[in-house]
Amino acid sequence: MELNLKPLNLPSDQKRPFVIAGPCSAETEDQIMTTATELAAKGCHMFRAGVWKPRTKPGGFEGHGEPALQWMKQVKDATGMYIGTEVATPEHVELAMKYGIDILWIGARTSANPFAMQALADSMKGLDIPVFVKNPVNPDLELWIGALERLNAAGIEKLAVIHRGFSSFDKTIYRNQPMWQIPIELRRRIPDLPIICDPSHMGGKRELIAPLCQQALDLGVDGLMVEAHCNPDKAWSDAKQQVTPDVLDYILSLLVVRDSAWTT
Ligand code: PEP
Ligand code: MN
Repeated sequence: MELNLKPLNLPSDQKRPFVIAGPCSAETEDQIMTTATELAAKGCHMFRAGVWKPRTKPGGFEGHGEPALQWMKQVKDATGMYIGTEVATPEHVELAMKYGIDILWIGARTSANPFAMQALADSMKGLDIPVFVKNPVNPDLELWIGALERLNAAGIEKLAVIHRGFSSFDKTIYRNQPMWQIPIELRRRIPDLPIICDPSHMGGKRELIAPLCQQALDLGVDGLMVEAHCNPDKAWSDAKQQVTPDVLDYILSLLVVRDSAWTT
């Protein structure tokens, strides 16, 4: 199926790509406001935070839900940044719209599930909102494209993907292996679809953020989604892979933005 896509016109400049940043999880109002204020001061374009968290095992922090959406709205009002969060069910979509979330994203566990994807797509009929689809946890390009087709058939035309790497039983230096050949093939198949790289979930550790960002930029990605937290070591989820807004700004300042390998 051919996708009908509308341009997203993501903001970026010659030195810095489009950057989405924010904590893995929305933990407290203070954590959200402090992190967002610092990120806005560094010129971040869009603020992210998980309000509903898909944890591998029960017992972990699964998100505050609706109260955290109120904090996200405060971020938008106070800083003017776009705000985005992960949705996994039709109820999430309805609540996110109620609080003025600008961009929805679909997580890697959800994009791997066609029933969940169809239910989400049905719940988005009539909405004119950008939706970013993370790759499925498993390296299945057709499943990823299938998730996009379901949304597109429901009328969602402002689509982008987030490449966050693929899980495997084998231990490597990555939490989720990049398998760059998969986004490269996706770009070949659907050239107009923006691709955003998430080096945080790919690397699983702070030290890998900079090299993964650079590799992604060298391939010509359209943006980066990086987890940032005002106090990363104390994060309630994904502590090892989060950095302060200051460190993120430093990492971004080191990146070389060249002509894309995909467009030259
Ligand atoms: C997240 O962005 O915090 C997250 C849960 O990511 P993923 O769906 O890529 O695992
Ligand atoms: Mn996370």
